[in-house]
Amino acid sequence: MQGPSMESTLKKFFGFSTFRPYQKEIVDSILQGRDCLVVMATGSGKSLCYQVPPLILNKTAVVISPLISLMQDQVMALKERDIRAEYLSSAQNDPNALTNAERGLYDILYMTPEKACMLPSSFWSRLLDYGICLLAVDEAHCISEWGHNFRVEFKQLDKLRDVLLNVPFVGLTATATGKVRDDIVKSLKLQSPYITIGSFDRQNLFYSCQSFVRGSAFLNELVSEISTCAAKTESTIIYCTTVKDVEEVFASLMESRVQAGMYHGQMSNKAREDYHRSFIRDEFYIMVATIAFGMGIDKPDIRHVIHYGCPKSLESYYQESGRCGRDGIPSNCRLYYTRSDFGKGDFYCSEARTADQREAIMDSFAAAQRYCMVTTCRRNFLLGYFGETYPSSRCGTCDNCTSSKKEIDMSREAFLLMACIQSCGGHWGLNLPIDVLRGSRSKKILDARFDKIPFHGLGKDMSANWWKALASQLIAQDYLVETFKDIYKSIRVGTKGNQFLTSCNPDYQPPLYIALTPELAG
Ligand code: ADP
Ligand code: ZN
Repeated sequence: MQGPSMESTLKKFFGFSTFRPYQKEIVDSILQGRDCLVVMATGSGKSLCYQVPPLILNKTAVVISPLISLMQDQVMALKERDIRAEYLSSAQNDPNALTNAERGLYDILYMTPEKACMLPSSFWSRLLDYGICLLAVDEAHCISEWGHNFRVEFKQLDKLRDVLLNVPFVGLTATATGKVRDDIVKSLKLQSPYITIGSFDRQNLFYSCQSFVRGSAFLNELVSEISTCAAKTESTIIYCTTVKDVEEVFASLMESRVQAGMYHGQMSNKAREDYHRSFIRDEFYIMVATIAFGMGIDKPDIRHVIHYGCPKSLESYYQESGRCGRDGIPSNCRLYYTRSDFGKGDFYCSEARTADQREAIMDSFAAAQRYCMVTTCRRNFLLGYFGETYPSSRCGTCDNCTSSKKEIDMSREAFLLMACIQSCGGHWGLNLPIDVLRGSRSKKILDARFDKIPFHGLGKDMSANWWKALASQLIAQDYLVETFKDIYKSIRVGTKGNQFLTSCNPDYQPPLYIALTPELAG
């Protein structure tokens, strides 16, 4: 019975003739009363999975979502399709919404996690009587302390499990590493859930990265790139890591008379909402924002997502860049990074409450840095991080796959650096071994007798920055490994580096090719 009625419901309410991959199986599992975990890329159609069952069963679907603006948008869109939808939150002014909800008058009822936890059990038991077909938790990674968006209120949702026995729970997220997935299942107390992990590959997105040096020269370049996007009426988001950067980029755009909006946490709600709305309505095409802008922006035709500065984790980069090209049309994800960004780990760690959390934050930040610097296929790197294997070593749609970037054999330099790091004991940061290579006779070096190391002074022809750039490449290629202990970052030679070092003497190394980045060429 379910087959035809699933398809006809899809057609009747949404106008689509077929389900996208995974949707049908998920809807089917929910109809059978089974808990589900849905991990699928942004734009793959997760919402439909919880929107269809209530229309078939004629019972309410309760959807927990962290963002009021997102709920408002969704409710509006559903109402236009003649679906009875409403949301409950502190911002809800309609006094009838709650009583209607309790009487099961809505097909889809959105609420914030705070609201869900505050509603009395009498509300839930009445709704149970009238009929509730599922409880969905959108952006479910917010439940995990390992996630990049942890929210305390999500943690309390497990209470609802005990009230809503026999109601299928559905956790949905676009971003989850194995650890986060496990956490969602545990925290929502999902019972042998039907798990769907869709591909994370966004085929229409072109990925590229470039290093830059802070200053007005680069800012001018950036503004000229953005004004080209604006001139072509291509919607573009520029993500900055700080409010100060947002304001600076925005001011530069204003100076160049490029129409744009701005969005960050220190602006008034009203100003933010006005800009948001105008951006969605194509009144202008450029939005300069911190990551506060985003969860839930439902604009399918964003053509460029530009990051001005290295993001705090690869998970958040994936999510932010994923807002690009949701309509499937080829779009660009460009990341500008500067090495000084890489020192921000401590800042990001300020949220950490335990040593494990600190390590998790540092690890995902390190992954973002590696993504910036990797010289092989970026799509392979990105998907690999989420545990997915891309079928080919080159995707053909990232800068590293398309550019004819020169690579040169740096076996000798790499040998010097790695051997020196090893000779110094492998538990220092990068500065000390580089100082040794460059022949420093600082007190620290003399005290440790590092001036006696055979490599002392052999690298003095190159600047400290040059050696750091080489180290970055060796880290990206897994020859060197960075480890974090509290606030200290140390560097050691990894397994691959050891194999290289022991393979033969320095003049007869197997070639070690390094991309000739601007820092290394200069
Ligand atoms: P997600 O929540 O995974 O980011 P959405 O649910 O917002 O994705 O869906 C993204 C877009 O795909 C929406 O515009 C939606 O209307 C469209 N979509 C979803 N399912 C289908 C389908 N079966 N056929 C055609 N379009 C679909
Ligand atoms: Zn590639």
